[in-house]
Amino acid sequence: MTEEMQTMQESAKKFKVEHDRPNCIGCAACAAVAPDFWTMHEDGKSDIVGCKKRDDEWEELDIEEKNFKENKEAADSCPVNVIHITNKETGEKII
Ligand code: SF4
Repeated sequence: MTEEMQTMQESAKKFKVEHDRPNCIGCAACAAVAPDFWTMHEDGKSDIVGCKKRDDEWEELDIEEKNFKENKEAADSCPVNVIHITNKETGEKII
């Protein structure tokens, strides 16, 4: 892949999804609503599929605009509001 293509792919990832995993109660709603992005782990909490794990035990993943709706639905379904989405271009915290 050329550097230019890589840059284009990165800039296509317009949103950042974050999971406050320490406060996840493992209800599985996110995995039911958005199974391509959310999965249940054997410790009873959910994980973002393919995410980066942070030192503070949160998880994060950059996503493209076409995958926003599915992740927004997952965030909306979370009863304890531990799924957050930020617009990386504007810095707006959507949820
Ligand atoms: S919906 Fe929220 S509390 Fe339930 S498993 Fe997903 S992140 Fe955890």
